[in-house]
Amino acid sequence: MMEAHAGGPSDNESPESNPVVAIDGPAASGKSSVAREVAKALGFVFVSSGAMYRAFTWEVLRRGANSGDRDAVLSVLGETGFQCATSDGAATILVNGADPGEAAHTGEVNANVSTVAAYPEVRKALLVEQRGFAHVGTGVVMEGRDIGTVVFPDTPYKFYVDASPEVRQARRRAQGIEDSVLERDKQDSSRETAPLRQAEDAAVIDSSDLTLGEVVGKVLRLLKEKGLAAASGA
Ligand code: C5P
Repeated sequence: MMEAHAGGPSDNESPESNPVVAIDGPAASGKSSVAREVAKALGFVFVSSGAMYRAFTWEVLRRGANSGDRDAVLSVLGETGFQCATSDGAATILVNGADPGEAAHTGEVNANVSTVAAYPEVRKALLVEQRGFAHVGTGVVMEGRDIGTVVFPDTPYKFYVDASPEVRQARRRAQGIEDSVLERDKQDSSRETAPLRQAEDAAVIDSSDLTLGEVVGKVLRLLKEKGLAAASGA
């Protein structure tokens, strides 16, 4: 079932926001799988903010623009409409009515997304869409790079999922996807606007030697301690 994005206040998190669980971390740290499972357990909507940056990067490349050409990227942005919604408990994003699907995860998108995501104007446009999800369903689990620091700085539910560089690069290789995760991390942490960094009040979990189930269990336990219980009572 497709449910339209309810939208929300443009620049500030509204006080009547639903609970937001923010999960940040570097590339291939496992945060996406963790966020999906945590959302399922809580009965919340799963939102990958990276999917939004990927979708727009896909549009930039599809239009033949060079990601390093600021004017070209901003011109595509000016002609782009995002349609966010939820389907089966997860966020969906269409760009000018089109769903990038698997094309958002190609080596070409991986190689260009951090450049596109560094433009403040791009971040501002997607921030509005991300904050709109705080008013959808009964709560959201959103993963990304700046969710706990910039998108929802006031949420008390923040996590930073990390893993060693070797483990992260090996995970991508095992998926057969061309992705220089360390290069993306470097670009994501050194940009001026909303760089990747740990929120001071985030619980840090190193997933290098843990299974997905163990990380999910840890997150759910910490959330329970803060008063946010899983639908199943886990
Ligand atoms: O999480 P994922 O690997 O899909 O993210 C793709 C890229 O999107 C990141 O490398 C980063 O450049 C950008 N991103 C971001 N801020 C977020 C989420 C993703 O800049 N909150």
